[in-house]
Amino acid sequence: MAEILIVGAGMAGAVHARRLADAGFDVHVIDQRDHVGGNCFDSVDPATGIRVHRYGPHLFHTSNMRVVDWLGQFTDWVPYEHRVVARLESGRLVPMPINADTIAAVLDRPVDTPAEAEAMLASLARPRGKVESAEDHLLGLVGPQLTELFFGRYTRKMWGQDLAEMDAAVVRRLKIRTDREDRYFPGDSFQALPARGYTAMFEAMLDHPRIRLSLSTAFEHRMLDECLHCFNAMPIDVFFECRHGALPYRSIRFHTTRHPAAAAPGHATVNYTDSGPFTRETWWHELPRHGGDATVLRTVEEPCDYRDNRMERYYPVKASDGRYDRLYQRYCAEAAQVRNLTFIGRCGTYQYLDMHQVVNQALMGTEAWLARAAA
Ligand code: UDP
Repeated sequence: MAEILIVGAGMAGAVHARRLADAGFDVHVIDQRDHVGGNCFDSVDPATGIRVHRYGPHLFHTSNMRVVDWLGQFTDWVPYEHRVVARLESGRLVPMPINADTIAAVLDRPVDTPAEAEAMLASLARPRGKVESAEDHLLGLVGPQLTELFFGRYTRKMWGQDLAEMDAAVVRRLKIRTDREDRYFPGDSFQALPARGYTAMFEAMLDHPRIRLSLSTAFEHRMLDECLHCFNAMPIDVFFECRHGALPYRSIRFHTTRHPAAAAPGHATVNYTDSGPFTRETWWHELPRHGGDATVLRTVEEPCDYRDNRMERYYPVKASDGRYDRLYQRYCAEAAQVRNLTFIGRCGTYQYLDMHQVVNQALMGTEAWLARAAA
């Protein structure tokens, strides 16, 4: 029987590969990069012994225990609850997403109870009838001052878009709090990091006698003719040579520098509220089992258009008028005409997905495909 071809050794591809290999299929995984793990890839900096997530911080969080149990076959976990602070122009660090302490600091007034915080937000809020854009959503919750301070400038540098042009779903990821909860993912019951890093977890996932791995290998259309089925995590527009136009993505340039431990702020991630080019900094030694001694490492993120960064696509851009989703749908209609092809993952399905959502999508997708194959 011909092999199944998986394009991409990131989260979507690796989960598909393992599930299909476990089900008895021979699987060939290709990736144009020279490492597994996609954007989850991490490695230890040889000079300092500190583990760095090479494509920015990946903090695993979910309430979906099926996803946790499945990944648990390939890794132990170390508990970690992520917290983020935003640096104001004064240099003061305040909790982000906005909570009661953030409101008190910015308005320079004491806020003792959630009811007081709610009343303050209600007096600032400017609700709009229809909520489509990120701006509509935020003005209705926190008003213009907090919207611009915490979201307007950050979003312009992150997405190259104004809040008015951006889909509300992007900022709905961050819940505004009126209590003092300061965890970044308070809604998720499971928050942890793979104990030996993401790369080791991917290596274990792909370590199977029925999985063949070819790194530094780009997809070619002739491969479709030779495989039983292709699960493809490459950007769907690139597969079709962008014939209807290119789907936009944001990319990030990472700037990693060494510092004496005493210079670190004591927070894993600091978001920048200024209008400069950088969005946030991550201090890797703050993550458990990431190393770090007298010298520590900081990575600062500089978002950019993917075309300016060797074509590395990280974030699908979402417009409030849905125009990019309509373009994506045109490619989907073409993909549906190809008998043995399924697009998967963030770039294949043009969705802003977190790791646990990609794993869930892959578990459900392989389940459905295996049921059809058995019928
Ligand atoms: N965001 C913002 N200010 C912040 C943090 C986030 O404006 O301090 C907005 C921004 O548009 C960002 C989105 O909220 O892209 C989602 O933020 P999240 O931290 O979830 O993004 P990720 O970690 O995936 O880059």
